[in-house]
Amino acid sequence: MLSGKSFYIQTFGCQMNENDSEHVASLLLKEGAVKASSPEESDIILINTCAVREKSVEKLFSYLGRLKEQKQTRQAVVACLGCVAQLYREKLLRRFPYLDAVVGPAQYEVLPEILRNSIREKAVRTAWKRNWTELPILTEARESTVSAYVTIMEGCNNFCTYCVVPFTRGREKYRPLKAVLKEVEELASRGYKEVQLLGQNVNSYRDPETGADFTEVLKRLAEVKGIEWIRFITSHPKNFTLEMARTMASVGKICHQLHLPLQSGSNRILKLMNRNYTREEYLEKIDWLKSLMPDISLSTDIIVGFPTETEEDFQQTMELLEKIKFTNIFSFRYSPRPYSAASRMKDDVPEETKIERLIRLQNRQKEIQLELNRKLVGKKLRVLCLGPSKKGQLFQGRSEGYQVVNFKSQEDCRGHFVDVKITGCGPYSLHGKVS
Ligand code: SF4
Repeated sequence: MLSGKSFYIQTFGCQMNENDSEHVASLLLKEGAVKASSPEESDIILINTCAVREKSVEKLFSYLGRLKEQKQTRQAVVACLGCVAQLYREKLLRRFPYLDAVVGPAQYEVLPEILRNSIREKAVRTAWKRNWTELPILTEARESTVSAYVTIMEGCNNFCTYCVVPFTRGREKYRPLKAVLKEVEELASRGYKEVQLLGQNVNSYRDPETGADFTEVLKRLAEVKGIEWIRFITSHPKNFTLEMARTMASVGKICHQLHLPLQSGSNRILKLMNRNYTREEYLEKIDWLKSLMPDISLSTDIIVGFPTETEEDFQQTMELLEKIKFTNIFSFRYSPRPYSAASRMKDDVPEETKIERLIRLQNRQKEIQLELNRKLVGKKLRVLCLGPSKKGQLFQGRSEGYQVVNFKSQEDCRGHFVDVKITGCGPYSLHGKVS
């Protein structure tokens, strides 16, 4: 029985994983288990993992190593979930014999049963699914009471050569639009103001029941009363259409903010990555977006040191950084991932070159962010207040462009939109006061 048992979920990785952890928490709460605030206090420790980069897997292994002590000193059930569980399966049990269960992302509906059994025996359950499995989230399992993640699709058919996701999450599966709508309506009735639609490639969404595409999803969700901001992640540039840009520009509730992973500015490298667009095509889409929404905030992902990347290839990435002026980037050194096509290429860019390119890229990006943020000083921004800031006296929220804003307010404004006059900034955040 799980009733009365306490559980703690440690989440590694992206928003998709955070949302998965909320699903898992819901399943356990429904069984009568209770949330604990630390692994030390819990009967069940769940580690929701990310396999997208070698570094994240190393971080996880070191976390799992530290849990050995917990298992030696008391009787906690420890289970590894998520993409690393899917990828390494029995190998994890061999390396960390004190794990009680290893459960892939498509098996969460049977997790309570596995945990009940794990108290008696070890289990490995991983498999992909072809169809969507609806796992509703209880409000008490959500991390925020203001902004909610809503998954609309999962998996990926793209097989970018560096990426492990098609091997951990399987092929694309789409959630029926009516289930998405129902969840968003319920969130609105509970006072949520913002939804962030999630999926590995949201632009390829098709309603399995009606065939409605992603722009239709955006339009339908914008009709839900109470939800004021809609965001979505991740968009693949090859599937991002002019119609989507027009929908973003014309439907008032869709934030003028887009994460559009570039990965490289070199056509030769993009081809080797199997990205299916050129730098010119990417730039054309950025032009549409900027001309339709001059205030749009753009962010991206960039990989440096992909096999055979030369200084000239890297310079082409730097050129695009200069030209586009992203408000944020997520940048990484290439590392070969299991099963991916690129793992069969020679990882020939020396590690010191990868590090040096990454530092140059991040340093220039930091300057760009500071330049962009300085232009906002003195302006008034509409901010959705998410709660008190980590530093105490202030509140924290996000602007429409998804910038972090720390601000002073006389009143407790969590869960509300406020106009904040920006009085200062750093490269990663803005600060100000309610005007
Ligand atoms: S689009 Fe490419 S990078 Fe993104 S999840 Fe799919 S295979 Fe991975």
